[in-house]
Amino acid sequence: MTSTSVASPSFGELALLPAVLSAVETLGYETPSPIQAQTIPALLEGRDMLGQAQTGTGKTAAFALPLLSRLELERREPQVLVLAPTRELAQQVAMSFTKYGQNLKGMGVATLCGGQEYREQISALKRGAQVVVGTPGRVIDHLDRGTLKLDGLSALVLDEADEMLRMGFIDDVKRVVADTPTDAQRVFFSATLPDEIERIVNRYLVDPVKVMIESSVGTAESIDQRLVRVEGGAKLEALSRIIEVEPVDAAIVFVRTRAACTTLVEQLTARGVNVAGLSGDLDQSLRERTIMRLKRGKVDVLIATDVAARGLDVPRITHVINYDLPQDSEAYTHRIGRTGRAGRTGVAITFAGFRETRKVRWLEQATGQQMSDMPLPDEKAIRAHRDEVFRERVVGALTAGTDEQRSLVERLVADGHDPLELACAFATIARADEAPIGRLPSPRAERTERGPREGKPRRSEDRGPSEGMTRYRVAVGHKDGVKPGQLVGALANEGGIEGNRIGRIDIRNAFSVVELPSSLPTSVLAKMARARVAGRALEISEDRGVPERAPRRRNEDDAPIRRRERA
Ligand code: ADP
Ligand code: MG
Repeated sequence: MTSTSVASPSFGELALLPAVLSAVETLGYETPSPIQAQTIPALLEGRDMLGQAQTGTGKTAAFALPLLSRLELERREPQVLVLAPTRELAQQVAMSFTKYGQNLKGMGVATLCGGQEYREQISALKRGAQVVVGTPGRVIDHLDRGTLKLDGLSALVLDEADEMLRMGFIDDVKRVVADTPTDAQRVFFSATLPDEIERIVNRYLVDPVKVMIESSVGTAESIDQRLVRVEGGAKLEALSRIIEVEPVDAAIVFVRTRAACTTLVEQLTARGVNVAGLSGDLDQSLRERTIMRLKRGKVDVLIATDVAARGLDVPRITHVINYDLPQDSEAYTHRIGRTGRAGRTGVAITFAGFRETRKVRWLEQATGQQMSDMPLPDEKAIRAHRDEVFRERVVGALTAGTDEQRSLVERLVADGHDPLELACAFATIARADEAPIGRLPSPRAERTERGPREGKPRRSEDRGPSEGMTRYRVAVGHKDGVKPGQLVGALANEGGIEGNRIGRIDIRNAFSVVELPSSLPTSVLAKMARARVAGRALEISEDRGVPERAPRRRNEDDAPIRRRERA
């Protein structure tokens, strides 16, 4: 046995087919990853296998390279069937087979996924594809229609087996496994190993080789895991600050629900972030276009739900941000595995409120990895960062001035203006459109934050506006006969924003209080202020310290307002 050798073998030592080896060289892979080094020899021998390693460790090549090496190219029928949990993953795997098999003459790949034409899939099968990659549902459809036959199959692969089970494909998977010839090789790959997988392995795999790559090899070294203490209402501001200050190339931000995804996309868009959403709401083609935009740098921040981001492989993702905590440690592992891919380093930042401490400790225990505490950038840090960015821009533009600009400045100097004063004036003008730095709600106010009506705030100021919103006063009220719809219409039209971005509206007698996204630029507010409703200018201004609804109990804060209301 060679188990004592420490150095990992080269691809050349792995007995792969020369045509496969040359493709690997073309792709620039230098050495096999640990999972590849350990699985390829046994898979070349035709052994059953259970392979476990973190996402991003090269599992696709671990099974594709040896299985391609064993194809009988003259036999034009399915020999390798790979099941993957989502269409996206299946397409990725199919593409990998095509790449790794680029020098195999007559090798064909058929991709059988839901939501696509049967016609193309059937014709790929008819052309004699030896490799079939698909999602369980559609593969079963083809089996039932008789368009896919597994008699000639020599290998069945379950890729991302844990995901497949989590997504409820257990019965489909068992069905396909049962339909494969008994002498076919059975290969399971998974990032994690829940009990259910062990059970299927024991039942269907014959004397399998088990290869487990410690997660610390994959994650801990390449991903810097950090924890940010932040309560719900402050998360948006925290996220904006992190995106601004961290050296983000591309980031993926995880939220729990589709609705949260939509909201956050809107909120960040309003703050000028180049953002897109990836949730189960998107149909496949939109989904693929979104991922392509991320890959090409047209989008820098992706807001995603767990299911939608499965298997996403975009090397430029430098940051994963857990805006909402993951459900369990497996989801956590999958999420942070979206960064630090293919040998790069990544950063995973997890948001957690103080009440979520136990869940965080539990995540750390389950993954065996510690998160380090990361302070949120404060205003000073953000200003310093902006100054640095501006300084770099200025220095970079030092020789960029045109003759016209030069003569303009010369004229200003000739008029007697001090050059330093002039430079300051230019800087002021150039930086006028920098976004205002938002406020982080004080922790005291936050602690009372629960559902809208739950928990009684002790003082009225504790009841803040909705998350990401700021309250404004407008100078029309009941006495002007104004209706909420008129306000929405006027504000949305004048400000050029969608009506659904306007929050709660509370009409009082002499004025009204309107919630608007905190991120609205002052130019938009200025436009809104010019709007006229019921014959009056709105004269919009920030509403400070007014309770959401005048409480029954009188206190110093609401007394004057109630008086005016009765007037
Ligand atoms: P997993 O299935 O484990 O999540 P993938 O198979 O998707 O990982 O591979 C992750 C990335 O690593 C891909 O971009 C792939 O091209 C790249 N990769 C795989 N093997 C190697 C290797 N030996 N050397 C360099 N890059 C590799
Ligand atoms: Mg994979």
